Amino acid sequence: MDPFVDVLRRLREAFRSGRTRAAEFRIAQLKGLDRFLQDNKQLLQEALAKDLHKSSFESEISEIRITQGEINLAVRNLRAWMKDEKVPKNVATQLDSAFIRKEPFGVVLIIAPWNYPLNLTLVPLVGALAAGNCVVLKPSEISTSVEKVLAEVLPRYLDQSCFAVALGGPEVTGQLLEQRFDYIFFTGSPRVGKIVMTAAAKHLTPVTLELGGKNPCYVDDDCDLQTVANRVVWFRCFNAGQTCVAPDYILCSREMQDRLVPAMQRAITRFYGDDPKSSPDLGRIIADKQFQRLQGLLGCGRVAIGGQSDETERYIAPTVLVDVQETEPVMQEEIFGPILPIMNVQGPDEAVDFIRRREKPLALYAFSNNRQVVKRVLAGTSSGGFCGNDGFMHMTLATLPFGGVGASGMGRYHGKFSFDTFSHHRACLLRPPGLEKIYAMRYPPYTRRNLRVLQMAMETRGCSCTLL
Ligand code: NAD
Repeated sequence: MDPFVDVLRRLREAFRSGRTRAAEFRIAQLKGLDRFLQDNKQLLQEALAKDLHKSSFESEISEIRITQGEINLAVRNLRAWMKDEKVPKNVATQLDSAFIRKEPFGVVLIIAPWNYPLNLTLVPLVGALAAGNCVVLKPSEISTSVEKVLAEVLPRYLDQSCFAVALGGPEVTGQLLEQRFDYIFFTGSPRVGKIVMTAAAKHLTPVTLELGGKNPCYVDDDCDLQTVANRVVWFRCFNAGQTCVAPDYILCSREMQDRLVPAMQRAITRFYGDDPKSSPDLGRIIADKQFQRLQGLLGCGRVAIGGQSDETERYIAPTVLVDVQETEPVMQEEIFGPILPIMNVQGPDEAVDFIRRREKPLALYAFSNNRQVVKRVLAGTSSGGFCGNDGFMHMTLATLPFGGVGASGMGRYHGKFSFDTFSHHRACLLRPPGLEKIYAMRYPPYTRRNLRVLQMAMETRGCSCTLL
């Protein structure tokens, strides 16, 4: 017997009862989630420290606060988001009421990764609850301490007839994916994203795929050297580099590289001291498998900074690699650790060319004192998100959508985008029952005159309807 059949039946019954549709119910769930974060802050910070050696500073800003910000935004705006959205009409529909109704999909599945095990599990959950869905949450089995808190403590704060946590790795997720869900929201690797999408296709279930990839970071010759070095180092080393939007490699001229490497060394020493291993602010690699993969990457190119590692602690030093070949693994796979290779290009046009020859990344960065250079990189490329002259700050703004494009994913969330992602946008037209004389001109026998009148009547401001 499949272990999830009963869980799904329970959630479907709860959804059918209609109680998740009321704004009061949704707000109560969101407030429950907020209380969970408040009441268990210390427990969560300890779990994050255990899993990733995450400092309380990084836990606070990148896991807890960001989730609370999303909850507050949803609670404050929920009633406005839920309102039917009136749309412009044409002459033919002047007497009708035309609107988009946001409906919950039903029972949704959220599958999360381990690198921000709270944020990437709970921020999608905010959207799913706000939109009035029942939810099965599948946290990562690799961030074991956070997974335990989510499984044991979180359900106490939510309506258990509408919410369930599924525990386990690929095998369990495979079983889950055999079930029919109404929406699947997946965050993780492109490899598993394909597995999820294939499984979803069997049930025609819509998906959001938040995936990874290699994020380029162009550094122009004309830039404030130390500022750029500080920013790049911080964003690469935040969470020990295990961040999907971290700059994955630098593109700059050979001359800039010669100046940037010492500046990055100064930034590393300033942030983490002479011995980064003893810094309380530098995270550790999540597990042995991931550590061994990263250790292998240290052999690529030539080590310009760092290069040390310690298996007993799963420590990788902040590392910069130069003289790297494009064909080496460090330039072929997503790094997901505190290692930063530098590739040489002659100026922004060559950088754009380099980027365009590869898959569209999740994030793209360009540093220059010259606004035109930043704009040229923006205009010449495509990516999920873009930030000029800083690291992943674009994803901290809930009014901007967050998501990938092409190989880095599909769909978007954060703020209202999350609510919209987890809502079906139902096209509604309510017509008064009478006035048959007016509407009768659509019926046969067709005449040229009626066709002309209908064509005019169906013009909508700025767009024309093509269907009768
Ligand atoms: P992953 O794809 O290995 O795992 C993600 C989830 O899928 C986990 O819950 C895991 O249990 C499940 N899973 C693993 N193998 C599976 C299988 N064979 N069948 C079904 N389910 C399976 O990813 P990860 O290692 O946890 O996270 C790292 C990846 O996630 C990186 O590629 C990173 O870029 C990406 N990521 C993307 C974002 C984003 O917002 N776009 C955020 C964080 C991480």
